[in-house]
Amino acid sequence: MSYFLQQLKAYAGLDDTDVALIEKVMHDIEPQWAHITDMTQANQIKVLEAFQKNQVADFHLNGSTGYGYGDTGRDVLEGVWAELFKAEKALVRSNLVSGTHAIATVLFGILRAGDEAVSISGMPYDTLQTVIGKSDDARGTLREFGVSHKSVPLVDNDFDEEAIRKAVTPKTKMVLIQRSRGYEWRDSLSIEKIARACDIVKSISEDIIVFVDNCYGEFVEEREPLEVGADIIAGSLIKNPGGAMAPRGGYIAGRADLVDASGERLTAPGISEDVSSALDFNRPAFQGLFMAPLIVEQALKGAVFSAAYLAAKGYTVSPTADAPRTDIIQCIAFGDPDKLRKFCQGIQAASALESYVTPYDDQLPGYDDPVIMAGGTFIQGSSIELSIDGPMREPYIGYMQGGLSISHIITSVCLAAKRMEA
Ligand SMILES: *Cc1c(COP(=O)(O)O)cnc(C)c1O
Repeated sequence: MSYFLQQLKAYAGLDDTDVALIEKVMHDIEPQWAHITDMTQANQIKVLEAFQKNQVADFHLNGSTGYGYGDTGRDVLEGVWAELFKAEKALVRSNLVSGTHAIATVLFGILRAGDEAVSISGMPYDTLQTVIGKSDDARGTLREFGVSHKSVPLVDNDFDEEAIRKAVTPKTKMVLIQRSRGYEWRDSLSIEKIARACDIVKSISEDIIVFVDNCYGEFVEEREPLEVGADIIAGSLIKNPGGAMAPRGGYIAGRADLVDASGERLTAPGISEDVSSALDFNRPAFQGLFMAPLIVEQALKGAVFSAAYLAAKGYTVSPTADAPRTDIIQCIAFGDPDKLRKFCQGIQAASALESYVTPYDDQLPGYDDPVIMAGGTFIQGSSIELSIDGPMREPYIGYMQGGLSISHIITSVCLAAKRMEA
């Protein structure tokens, strides 16, 4: 038995049967891990080249204060980002407070009264439904500003061309695509599928703006959405591209005119993206971007291990261990509220921080069912760090993602599984 497995056995209270299963699973997933390693190494070179082309230097790691005029660190960071994601322009800002804020900034920056937006990957992520506006009396929403929205569901985990052609007309200003599964039991959308969707939309009208919510997808595949026809993307820095080092922030990247319009909304018309001091943000944002392929590799390998290990124990998982990965989320259907609860409590118990806390499911604003959340992360709410949450409803699905090191993910999942079954 390896030294790691000896330690793990003692730490997680495993028996010989558990250890034998872990050994088997680790052997079985070698081909998937090899593919992930390859992707990481290729993406690492892309990141390196983007740094070098933009001549990143030590003094760029410092930030400015006040208005932030002439914050060259901020400007060079955005240059690196644009290079890497094949954008004409990018905003990478700590005052984009989250992914939702970054996405909302694009929506409000570009859409005007009378415009129509169509989501072609089903209803968007929960927090964005609130931004779009669920009811007439909700304030500050797109709906209140006179922007209409409709959504076209996916069929068999893919875009529904016929329904898209019916819903999207030349009158449509923007089409929204969500790359990741979010908190739904569906496959995330591969870059190949997104490419096809962009072609369909552009064949209806070249003028329709394709906006991709890129959350959880960065560095998982060879290409990013702007390379296959999307016009603008946005995401969160406390997910994949922050490399677990960016302490906050979001990004917007794509066509210059669209990024400019978003910048006007982010600050104020006229001052746009020329203001906003980076303070202490530049160093961790640069370093996190450099580390991001490695951290995504850990998260992906951990997700594959978890899929294989929990499937071997009889649970339904999505994606399966051998399925191609297009985001970092791993869903596990526990089929039993107590199992979901105990598994989440096990993940918390194996965290570096707040391991002594026991999470319970509770009612949260905006959710229909009680939700349980676990993850003792260094950055509050970070989901590139190991975290899991799940709504308390059939079939009791845990949505797990992230992890800073593969050893920690394996340790946590084995401990959580053991406690769940105890
Ligand atoms: C996380 C996420 C968001 C929102 O990001 P926050 O940083 O939590 O506001 C939007 N869309 C998808 C698909 C996400 O996964």
